[in-house]
Parts: sequence; structure tokens; C-alpha cells
Amino acid sequence: MEQHDFDLFVIGGGSGGVRAARMAAQRGARVALAEVLGTDGLGGTCVNVGCIPKKLYSYAAHYAEAFEEAAGFGWDTTGGTLDWARLKQRRAAEITRLNGIYGNLLAGSGVTRIDGFARLTGAHSVSVATLQADGSATHREFTAAHILIATGGTPFVPHFQGREHVITSNEIFDLDPFPQRLAVVGGGYIACEFASIFNGLGAKVTQLYRGEQVLRGFDDEIRHFVAGEMVKHGVDLRLGAGVVAIRKEADGLHLALEDGQTLVTDAVLYATGRVPLVKDLGLDAVGVAQGAQGEVVVDEHYRTSVPHIFAVGDVTNRVQLTPVALGEAMVVVDQLLGAAPGKAQRSMSYEYIPTAVFTHPSIGTVGLSEQAARERYGDVTIFRSEFKALRHTLSGSTERTLMKLVVDTATDRVVGLHMVGAEAGEIVQGFAVAMKAGATKAVFDSTIGIHPTAAEEFVTMREPLRR
Ligand code: FAD
Ligand code: NDP
Repeated sequence: MEQHDFDLFVIGGGSGGVRAARMAAQRGARVALAEVLGTDGLGGTCVNVGCIPKKLYSYAAHYAEAFEEAAGFGWDTTGGTLDWARLKQRRAAEITRLNGIYGNLLAGSGVTRIDGFARLTGAHSVSVATLQADGSATHREFTAAHILIATGGTPFVPHFQGREHVITSNEIFDLDPFPQRLAVVGGGYIACEFASIFNGLGAKVTQLYRGEQVLRGFDDEIRHFVAGEMVKHGVDLRLGAGVVAIRKEADGLHLALEDGQTLVTDAVLYATGRVPLVKDLGLDAVGVAQGAQGEVVVDEHYRTSVPHIFAVGDVTNRVQLTPVALGEAMVVVDQLLGAAPGKAQRSMSYEYIPTAVFTHPSIGTVGLSEQAARERYGDVTIFRSEFKALRHTLSGSTERTLMKLVVDTATDRVVGLHMVGAEAGEIVQGFAVAMKAGATKAVFDSTIGIHPTAAEEFVTMREPLRR
């Protein structure tokens, strides 16, 4: 590998890129990592404009419920008002701290950081353009035995009249001023999470989704249940709804809707999916094959069509989750450098990937929806429990919790586990281990619950709802 400047050149300092660079460098490889945003970009989407700031804002929004519910527990509170500027400032400071930690981790493991926009120039070469203070750019050329593309994705906004007035999840965190009225377009993870969060923070939220129910792909019962709970919390969810055009007027943004109505709002968040970030990456020139959305096509070893060039994470447009990008990155490193001392060679399975949607209340899910399980296994048995959580017996909230198990009748294996309720992600993570280990319903039944919790319901559902 010595004839090259580096053994591994990583493009992108997000979840996948940083993990791969660090792991490879710790095992003695000579590694470089290019990040176009410099230190500010370290950690990528998740740290800067994704998981972390989103979850911090979700916590902030939950305080509104806590204030309301406190009276039922004997607290005399007058509630609170949100200082949006303070929340933004505190979030920004935390993100800066995390950027620094990522920088230190890279430095500590011996990764050479190169600030700038990287472009492939050959099967073993990369050119990095770095902006200078005077606005000019310097270009440097590097060679590497292997190259890893980990450039992530970027929000997709469809074309329509007035598109320039909308924002995406990239801008929402620093929105100024706080939108008293917010329209959210889309029905996926981001749209549902931000509708819930801004509703909790005090905005009047209208969510417009084109389909018949939000969160396509999730278990149908879960979709309907969470939508109902979001509406109870105050989100004005309009299904089968779309925007034709947006006009800016003195009193706000006027959204002309497909049904002929007009919605007036202060800000419009488009959360209509994300596309791979591949612009000017030089994929064409080097011959890296791309799919219909521009994604880098990889085989089961994350190899692109060009030998020695690999890709992981959102740029491959598969499962867009941080832990998946991290897992893929570690598999690539093991492939290139062998397993870590004393450890088995890592592999990645896309079955039983747990996930949470941080709506209010949240969704936690692992395995197959009832519909998908029925298609795969034919005969499935459904266990379901819906209840008012103990906390809400005094809180005054009408929020309800839903838990559901999908069991392959022939083998008794639990193949789907779904929940809508408080801390669903925290609860489902542990169950995901059992599901990966192939736990049957009998194993669930023989597990002693922790009382009093909501989670114990997963091991105490005895009577099937339907088969
Ligand atoms: P990224 O993290 O996007 O990193 C790519 C990096 O490459 C960026 O820093 C970018 O600046 C840099 N880059 C791009 N092009 C170049 C170039 N040519 N040269 C140099 N640098 C370049 N996932 C979860 O698991 N849980 C969540 O709760 C969650 N919440 C989310 C909330 C939001 C609002 C969004 C948008 C995403 C969320 N995700 C969540 C998804 C998660 O953020 C992504 O799956 C993850 O960040 C993908 O990692 P990555 O390494 O593929 O790309
Ligand atoms: P999603 O793919 O989840 O959802 C996109 C939504 O936009 C869908 O409801 C889709 O509708 C709708 N849509 C697409 N195109 C249009 C259009 N032209 N007009 C109107 N509506 C449209 O994408 P997100 O942007 O919400 O999130 C991207 C990914 O990021 C997620 O899939 C997830 O992997 C990751 N993420 C993970 C989170 C977590 O782990 N908690 C949180 C946030 C993001 P339809 O269903 O009808 O196609």
C-alpha cells in the first residue's frame, strides 16, 4: 500500500466516515478524512442537523406536557414560556462541543483531517478543494489504496411555484423567529417528528400528507394509532393533502392547497425525503455506478463498481439510520484490515434493525409489520395491548399506549414488536436483542416482568387478538 499517500481516504466526516476513519487508523492504517464543512461538519447530519439536535428539541417539547401534567401530581405550577433563542443557543453550544469531540477522536487515532470538498479523480485519487479566506480555492491531489465514499444525503424538495419560501430540516433548528404557525409537508420520520416537536414547543402545526396515512411502511395499526395520538396532542393532520403553490403576503405565507383551500402560516417545513449527496463527486468520471436516485450502488461488501472504492451510509440510499452507517463502516474496515484483535470479523444484517420515531408519543419498532409478516409467513398470530399508562392516571392526559407482537404461528417466533408510547425507543432496544436471538412467544411468556412499567406488557400479553 506504500506507493499511495494513504491506505484509506474517507470522503465525508459524518456517522459512517468518522467511524471508518477512526477504526482503520486505530489498527495502524494511514488514513485521511475530508470534510467539506471542516470542524463544524464533523459528526455529519446526525450530530449537526439530525438525530442529536432533533432529540434535544424533543426533550424541550416534552416539558410543555410535564408542566401541564404536574398539577395532577400535586404540584402548583404556572407552566412555562419558551425562550426559543436560549434553546437554540444551548443546542448550538452542545453541537459545537460534539464537533470538538469528533475532531479529538480523529486526531487521537491518528487520522489526517483535510478540510475541503473532495472529488474522485481516479480509482486511487482524490482532489480536495479548500476555500481560502479571500474566496479563492486551493486544490490538492491525494492518492490512496482504498477510498470510502460516505457523503450522506440532503433534503429533497419537489418543484412547485413558491418553493423558495420553504425550509428543510437543515434550516429548522435555527429558525428565526419562532414560528407561531408551522406547516409541515410530508408523512415520514422527519415530518412526523417535527410536527410533534413544534406542536409541543407551542407552534400551531398543520401537517399535510399526500397519502391516506402517515409513516408508510410501518405497521398499519401503529400508523393509525400514532396519528390519532398526534392529533389529540394538537397537530392538525390533514391526509390526502398537498400544496399547489406558495405566495408570500404581509400576513404570512399563503399555501394554495390541492383541495382549493388556503392555509396561512409563518413557516413551511418540507420533509419530503432525502437524496444521496453526490453532486460534483466525480462518480461519472471515475465510472462509479449510480442508481435511479443518484445513489452509489454497492455490493454486499460495500464495494462500488470500481475496485478499491467503497461506499457506506445514506449515500447508498438504503437504510438511512446512524447506527446502520456505523455498522457498515466497521464491516468495511474489517474487510480491508482484518478483524480487530480478539474479535470476530464483523458482518451486517439488515434484519431486525430496531428503529424509533420520536413523535409525541414515540414509536419503537423492530422486525416485521403485521402486513409484511403475513406476506412472508402466511399464518401469524397477533397479540395487542392498548392502555392508559400509570402516569396518566393522575396526569390528566388522555394519551394511550399501544403494544403489539407479531408471531409466526408455525415456529412461535416473535417476528414483529411494535409500540407507541413514552420512551418507546428505550424499551424496544432491549427487546431487539431478544428478537435477533430468535426469541419465541414462549420465551417472552416465561420472562418475568418489571413492575410497574409499561414494558412489562410485552411479556404479559397472553390472549391472541387474531390469527
Ligand atoms: P452524514 O452523516 O450525512 O455525513 C456525510 C458528511 O459528508 C457530511 O458531514 C457532509 O458535509 C460531508 N460531505 C458531503 N460531500 C462531501 C464532499 N464531496 N467532500 C467532503 N465532505 C463531504 N438517524 C437515526 O438513527 N436516528 C435519528 O433519530 C435520526 N434523526 C434524524 C433527523 C433528521 C432531521 C435527519 C435529516 C436525519 C436523521 N437520522 C437519524 C438519519 C441519520 O442522520 C443519517 O442516517 C446518518 O447521519 C447518515 O450518516 P452518513 O455517514 O451516511 O452521512
Ligand atoms: P421519508 O422517506 O421517511 O418520508 C418522506 C415523506 O415525504 C413521505 O411521507 C413521502 O410520502 C413524502 N413525499 C415524498 N415526495 C413527496 C412529494 N413530491 N410531495 C409530497 N410528499 C412527498 O423521509 P424523511 O425526509 O422523513 O427522512 C429521511 C430518512 O431519514 C428516513 O427515512 C429515516 O431513515 C431517516 N430519519 C430517521 C429518523 C429516526 O431514526 N428517528 C428521524 C429522521 C430521519 P409517501 O410515503 O407517500 O411516499
